[in-house]
Amino acid sequence: MTQDLNLLSNDAFRARWRGWLEQNYPAEWRIPIIRRLAGDEERRWHRMTYEAGWRAPAWPKQYGGLGLSLEKQLILNEEMERHRCARVLDSGGVLLAPVLMKYGTDAQRSRYLPAILRGEDLWCQGYSEPNAGSDLASLRTSAVRDGEAFLVNGQKIWTTLAGCADRIFVLVRTNKEVKKQAGISFLLADMDTPGLTVRPILNLADEDELCEVFFENVRIPAENLVGALDQGWTVAKALLGDERISNGAPTLPRQAFEVLEQLIETRGLAEDAGVTDRAASLFCDVHDLAALHSQVADAAIRGEVDNAVLGMMKVLATEAFQDISEEILNVIDEDAGLQSPTIGAESPLDLRKIYMIARPSTIYAGASEVQRNIVSNALMGKS
Ligand SMILES: Cc1cc2nc3c(=O)[nH]c(=O)nc-3n(C[C@H](O)[C@H](O)[C@H](O)COP(=O)(O)OP(=O)(O)OC[C@H]3O[C@@H](n4cnc5c(N)ncnc54)[C@H](O)[C@@H]3O)c2cc1C
Repeated sequence: MTQDLNLLSNDAFRARWRGWLEQNYPAEWRIPIIRRLAGDEERRWHRMTYEAGWRAPAWPKQYGGLGLSLEKQLILNEEMERHRCARVLDSGGVLLAPVLMKYGTDAQRSRYLPAILRGEDLWCQGYSEPNAGSDLASLRTSAVRDGEAFLVNGQKIWTTLAGCADRIFVLVRTNKEVKKQAGISFLLADMDTPGLTVRPILNLADEDELCEVFFENVRIPAENLVGALDQGWTVAKALLGDERISNGAPTLPRQAFEVLEQLIETRGLAEDAGVTDRAASLFCDVHDLAALHSQVADAAIRGEVDNAVLGMMKVLATEAFQDISEEILNVIDEDAGLQSPTIGAESPLDLRKIYMIARPSTIYAGASEVQRNIVSNALMGKS
């Protein structure tokens, strides 16, 4: 696709993307919320969109992206939600790539960005450690310079999809003598480097997407340092900001609410005052969130981004998602478990999974309590 998509009117752009999805999106992936593309499926999605000229909407054209305006990127997301597409993490394309563009070397950009674009490399994010989550700067995985490499020792935890990633971007401690934020560096590593091992953690839903990653005398080439030595905190903070924008979107609460509506209908509960009263209140939450998101998106299109508002949106979106998922369980329980906890005839969805997917959403990408601290500090004029 050589045409500049930014030149299309929003309506024409929307119609083109919608048409492509309708023609090409695999039917078996159309399970919103519950389905997440991982491993080879994720690679396939990136390759499909790359070959069709839809990959990397936010990347500048010089790196092979579409260079789309934020307005058009939002249209892409709206249409994917409408088409009931599965979730995709894309840590390489969404989280790492902007960092490489800003802080990486030319060699790093030309080595890693094309492989991310083509879906050849999947990345995972190695930040959190057993004693460094919200207080990330306390991380202890150490990297000591040894000739042309760093020798890395330590452990990461909750590393999503590490088991099917090709590479990891990792925060390490390179200086213990300075204040903790000032002694962190940002490194890139191949998952098959000797000494690097992955151990899956089974979650509530019996899935093993979350992992521990262990580093035992892992040699990471010095050329894989992103940004300056000991300046990894600045790099990491830029990345966390990008993450929060997408985590405050109303997509998951809205999709969960649709499931709730469908469930109320199919279980004949539309006349139950208790159920409809709670559903109405949740509907208002989703509506408020969507209105806030659209205001924030408009502000972002004008280049105005407010960290406190992003924090507030992340709290509202994830807590609404949890509330709706709890109500889905309530409705399932209305018949004391006599009916199967599923919906849909052809490929029934186990609705209890929505609850399990919603539970951790208030923890990752900045826990609710920490976001509330950010919001209250901003309200009280503290930085
Ligand atoms: C599903 C999922 C996927 C994840 N994926 C990744 C990943 O891919 N890569 C990665 O690096 N990490 C990942 N994480 C880790 C995530 O970033 C951390 O769980 C998160 O930062 C919280 O850290 P913690 O678990 O150590 O909890 P803690 O920081 O120990 O927090 C425990 C509780 O204390 C509260 N708390 C902490 N500090 C404060 C404070 N100052 N004021 C008030 N309350 C506070 C928290 O809100 C929380 O309720 C993932 C987590 C989850 C749940």
